[in-house]
Amino acid sequence: MILNRSYGVNVYIDKGRNLEGLKTEIRAMNEKLKIDKNEMAKIREIKKAERKSCIESYVAELERSGKKGLELLRFFKNIPSTYKYNWILARRGKLSKTKAVKLHCIECSGWSLREASECVVNTCALYNHRPRSRNED
Ligand code: SF4
Repeated sequence: MILNRSYGVNVYIDKGRNLEGLKTEIRAMNEKLKIDKNEMAKIREIKKAERKSCIESYVAELERSGKKGLELLRFFKNIPSTYKYNWILARRGKLSKTKAVKLHCIECSGWSLREASECVVNTCALYNHRPRSRNED
């Protein structure tokens, strides 16, 4: 018998087990899952705000830093918003090397992840490190 389908979890019980005890356990589990979901949503919001503020401060930094900064700013403005934060991290040496290589491939492919994963330039030194390369080899 299926007792509960919440959050995609099916709980099966035997006829001999204490039904009320199980229901209480399931209610407690559901409450915990709800709290976890709310916590995750809050964490996502905080991270989003951090990324936004990081991008804004980077732009302000570039605007203050003269001709070279403005050249970089022109380039930066053309980066799709999905990749802006990681690009800043890469520039500051705070992105892992693997992620930085993948970001470079995406940049090389006109900021298209799909194009990067379908790259056919097998003479490139980064060919084996391009996004999703393991699935295709
Ligand atoms: S592997 Fe392909 S996408 Fe990546 S840097 Fe080399 S040429 Fe560009």
